Amino acid sequence: MTSKQAAYLVLNAGSSSLKFSAFRQQAASADLETLLSGQISGIGSSAHFAAKGADRRLLAEHRWDDKDSLCRDTLLQYVLRWVRATLVDDEIVAVGHRVVHGGLALGQPMRVSPQLLDQLDSLVPLAPLHQPHNLAPMRILAKNFPDLEQVACFDTAFHSSQPAIARSFALPQALTDEGVCSYGFHGLSYEYVTSQLLENRPDLAEGHVVICHLGNGSSLCAVKGGRSMDTSMGFSALDGVPMGTRAGSVDPGVILYLMREKKMGLEELEDLLYRQSGLLGVSGVSNDMQVLQASDDPRAQKAVDLFCFRVAKEVAALAASMGGLDALVFTAGIGENSPEIRALIAERLEWLGVKVDAAANRNREYYIAATDSKVPVFVIPTNEEMMIAKHTINVLGQTIGHA
Ligand code: AMP
Repeated sequence: MTSKQAAYLVLNAGSSSLKFSAFRQQAASADLETLLSGQISGIGSSAHFAAKGADRRLLAEHRWDDKDSLCRDTLLQYVLRWVRATLVDDEIVAVGHRVVHGGLALGQPMRVSPQLLDQLDSLVPLAPLHQPHNLAPMRILAKNFPDLEQVACFDTAFHSSQPAIARSFALPQALTDEGVCSYGFHGLSYEYVTSQLLENRPDLAEGHVVICHLGNGSSLCAVKGGRSMDTSMGFSALDGVPMGTRAGSVDPGVILYLMREKKMGLEELEDLLYRQSGLLGVSGVSNDMQVLQASDDPRAQKAVDLFCFRVAKEVAALAASMGGLDALVFTAGIGENSPEIRALIAERLEWLGVKVDAAANRNREYYIAATDSKVPVFVIPTNEEMMIAKHTINVLGQTIGHA
């Protein structure tokens, strides 16, 4: 009888979806192999499970009719049982979770314990739309599968290296002391991309790098010597550049105006800023960049132009923030897949010495800078799930090592 290999499940739980992936550590190397990935979408309305193998081929699909019986508990247990039954050669030994907020105290991934869950509960007011959904699966797994180790990985953690000045708002100090400051998000993506860049271009290890994570949610990060120095996202995931349905930075005076003149309440404002703005709000067409690029509606064109204008402006701001620009990196759905958007942003940054090579950009090569570009430009696919799996293995390795 052959013994099973250790495998790791990664969960990313949102308000209406549960994404999952499984990884195995390759023998005699630190590399991880993706075994499968999938998601349950439409939680709370019409739940739909779909999973793909490492070759991206559909492995299984399932739809539920009876939405009343579909609590998160049932769906999560369905995923775990399906993964265990599918990976016959592997044993899921631990689960790594994506958690949006670790506050100022949690600067690295942590093993899940009742104490940690209490600490993470106390951060719910900082991320009320995301944090509760991230925490729920940890409690469900702890109750139903108590032997399974769990590790929480925070989107904020990578930014814990930022200097205090980059984290502060010019508000009364008492508010800053209470935690009203910039935390930054997409940290697991920045950490992964930084590790890839440093592996392939160690000459940039001490350099000043701006990473543009441009997806449905978008932000940028200034990375110096491999450490986050500043980012476009702030106290919440609303700050910075426009996104699919989020506005990005808006003069706070606009919020005061809407409250005073339009009598908008908390929920209406939350809906406006999180769900009705950004590419969707400006275009009135779609939140999807691919749809906007294919549209001949002038409002769609305006949304694309505003997005590129604001991203380019943020690249320059972050270069100024850390005192240089030695490399520019594009990642995530738009950053990895849209040569037009990369070209439009680069065009606006030509005065900084950024120039992309048209053919390399179109072919989505790893290195897309023109030969006469003063700044190297890269396209590096992100993999937040892989980063979580690596953290999970490291944290548990440390736990065992220290036991
Ligand atoms: P993400 O949140 O990282 O999955 O990114 C989603 C965004 O990437 C959506 O706005 C998509 O329209 C966009 N996207 C994906 N592929 C392309 C593409 N080929 N061209 C333009 N945008 C794309």
